[in-house]
Amino acid sequence: MKSSKSVVLIVVLAALLAFTAGPAGADSKKITAAIDEASKSCRGVSQQIWELKEPGQQEFKTSALLKEELAKLGYKVTGDLKVPDDLVKDGIAKTAFKAEMAGKGPGPTVTLMLEYDALAIGHGCGHNLIATSGLMAAAGLAKVMKDTPGRVFVIGTPDEERGSLGGGKVALLEGGHFEGSDVVFITHGADRWSMDQRFLAMKRATFTFKGKSAHAAAAPHKGINGLRGVMLTFNCVDQLREHLRQDVRIHGIVAKGGGPVNIVPELAQAEFACRALDTATMENAYARIVNCAKAGELGTGTTLEFKEPRVALKATVAVPALLEVIQANVKGLGVAANQFKDFDELASSDLGMVSYSYPTVNLWFKIAPEGTALHTDALREAANTDEGWKATVIAGKAVALSAYEMLTKPEKLKAVQDGFKEAKAKEGK
Ligand SMILES: [Zn+2]
Repeated sequence: MKSSKSVVLIVVLAALLAFTAGPAGADSKKITAAIDEASKSCRGVSQQIWELKEPGQQEFKTSALLKEELAKLGYKVTGDLKVPDDLVKDGIAKTAFKAEMAGKGPGPTVTLMLEYDALAIGHGCGHNLIATSGLMAAAGLAKVMKDTPGRVFVIGTPDEERGSLGGGKVALLEGGHFEGSDVVFITHGADRWSMDQRFLAMKRATFTFKGKSAHAAAAPHKGINGLRGVMLTFNCVDQLREHLRQDVRIHGIVAKGGGPVNIVPELAQAEFACRALDTATMENAYARIVNCAKAGELGTGTTLEFKEPRVALKATVAVPALLEVIQANVKGLGVAANQFKDFDELASSDLGMVSYSYPTVNLWFKIAPEGTALHTDALREAANTDEGWKATVIAGKAVALSAYEMLTKPEKLKAVQDGFKEAKAKEGK
């Protein structure tokens, strides 16, 4: 039996809790209920996007569909966004969009990023689920914004796959479409739940070696062999590898290697990509690859043509305070702590660039059995199952609840912003 004193204490505590957690708790329920409701039609939207399977720069029907859904939710939607001319490429500006919803008076801005481009094999990276988890989060927030300070941005970021050099997000960043964002959210389906934020910094290089053609048998001494410049570059890079940190990845191909075998190749070309866990290490290795190409030029008497690319991808900046917020929400939605797992294999994404400008988080959610790799037929199939959809709904809810916390809990937002500054200062060390 409890003493009457402790009963009184419990009653007082319960009343206090109800008072302090009341309105926010009620809003959280409103958000998740709205998402449960929206999930029915969003499942159809996801299926449509999956069937459309439009590749990067061609996501016209997909973006039109998403814009329509966001407008139905009450968002002010703008398409045909302006981006720098040299980053427009074929269609980024046409398939990108931005949707906005203002809340009750001034406050922070939370931004949801939606990806929706497919691969040649269809939605083998599950971007249909990124788009629709974001759409559900937008639906959840739409329900509470009239009583919530701040605003919501939903940015449609096309061309993540094909545009790995630059990508839709870089063009949109440079076009200023993220300006004013306080926190940026995105999700990604995978074979696990994960808060792993690592994406490799990446920069590409194209080396062109110009020489002089000659008859390969009759007068090779009169020729200068462009292909030899390429080969010496590869050899130099291979000598270099031994002394690079383990996470540095250098992969190259011969893009042009000459014509008929009886003619000394006048022109040859190699393409390389250089990656590393942090941007500074990647840049350091990159500079050494360029030196390898210079060695190729010097050693063979060819002329090297090389121009630094317009855009490189930075490594992701992770903000622990933000990871905590979203992970707590995922757990609150029933995903056990032991279900979270880091990745063993890493790649690059234009997401890194966004994370360098604004506190950003990517939530990986489990739609496929562990061991299912991205960019496979198996993942494509998983991106259109009821099982995968359940996780997508949880991801959408976790994003909405976390975004809502950022809008309504200034102390949490400040911790995220301070953590972001700290993480950025550490980047590259
Ligand atoms: Zn992807």
